[in-house]
Amino acid sequence: MTVTVRFAPSPTGRIHIGNARTALFNWLFAQKHKGRFIQRFDDTDVARSTQDNADSILYDLHWLGIFQDATEYQSKRIEHYDAAVERLKAAGLLYACYETPEELDLRRKVRRTRGLPPVYGREALALTSEQVAEFQADGRRPHWRFLLPNFISNPLEPQRTEIHWNDLVRGEETVDLASLSDPVLVREDGSYLYTLPSVADDIEMGVTHIIRGDDHVTNTGVQIALFKALGAEAPIFGHHNLLTTASGEGLSKRSGALSIGSLRESGIEPMAIASLAVLIGTSENVAAMPSLAALADRFDPASTSKSAAKFDADELVVLNRALLHHMPFSDARDRLAILGVTGERAEPFWNAVRGNLDRLSDALVWWRIVNEDLEKKPKFSKEDRDFLRGAFDLLPEDPWGEHVWKTWTAAIRKAGDRKGKALFMPLRLALTGLESGPELADLLPLLGRERTLARRP
Ligand code: GLU
Repeated sequence: MTVTVRFAPSPTGRIHIGNARTALFNWLFAQKHKGRFIQRFDDTDVARSTQDNADSILYDLHWLGIFQDATEYQSKRIEHYDAAVERLKAAGLLYACYETPEELDLRRKVRRTRGLPPVYGREALALTSEQVAEFQADGRRPHWRFLLPNFISNPLEPQRTEIHWNDLVRGEETVDLASLSDPVLVREDGSYLYTLPSVADDIEMGVTHIIRGDDHVTNTGVQIALFKALGAEAPIFGHHNLLTTASGEGLSKRSGALSIGSLRESGIEPMAIASLAVLIGTSENVAAMPSLAALADRFDPASTSKSAAKFDADELVVLNRALLHHMPFSDARDRLAILGVTGERAEPFWNAVRGNLDRLSDALVWWRIVNEDLEKKPKFSKEDRDFLRGAFDLLPEDPWGEHVWKTWTAAIRKAGDRKGKALFMPLRLALTGLESGPELADLLPLLGRERTLARRP
């Protein structure tokens, strides 16, 4: 049996780091088991789903390093859901209801005041054919509910009915079907809610493992019953905890908060996002993993905590720095070339500056410092200027080897009485215009003798 997972967002906005968590849990699980990863777009809500959103989700996933073995759109598979509906109707497991939302609301209130759970009381099952004819004459169209198997012989007398599964993340889970309303599977206008198409697709696409957020735990009880009703065995489930912002707010696709696209635009590396999205809220330390393969080694769904994981977006910046610090030139080369960082000095330049970058694009600042005149001439006290002039006069002749900085500063030390910060700081300022940055020993050979001399104050 090939492990088959799916990532099934509704294309109603751009995916955020919480959605990336679900996608990555599935992708890494598939990688570990040499399985298949299906991209499924849950776009039965045509009013809110768009192809643009689906395309941007695919773009974001590819950028993260997730590639699909198949891509499916539920809007193109309606006939499969119609067939499932026919099966359920034939088995007497789907029944027509005519209540309006207001009527349902009122009933729930009445049940609450009587101390009953606010679930649907299956009143539609008791409708006479005259009542149904009357509704239809009034122009009311039915919505359809799935009859949950939570009774012995009389659906109006539900009994505690436990559905159990061994969750990949949460361990033993139980949902009592008597505590739930029969779910509406088909709306008045004939369109589908999420529950049935998801199960029909999971069956037909041979999904073996459903890994998703723990906001679906209750759905799983219902869906396991639906798998059975459709004659299929339920797959294995895993429900990971959800991510919230540091202040505890949930993430929403529609708000655009922390969308993968906006993080990319602000210069966050895909592996910074993937590392945080996967390791936060688990018993593993959050650390910058250089590749999805390395992350897969650290990934264990069972190490995920059951409570929501608060995360701090600032942590992405810390991870970003760590990734850049160790990023080999071969990984950075193409992106540096786009910034104009090319030629034989590109590699030593990258190795010199990568430890000082928040974002890869910050390399451009240093490339300019090394290749162009300084934007602002630094200002010095008279003593520092005199010291620097003397120091620049001691600059070694060409050709420069890799130890030129050592040779030069040894000569400066010998000629005067400055050492430590008093020696290095004015030199750093004169050479780079900044008070901190990469090792001067690395920058000096990149500057070359001529450009260095031009910075003599
Ligand atoms: N479209 C559903 C969601 O985004 C999919 C849930 C599932 O994986 O079954 O929540």
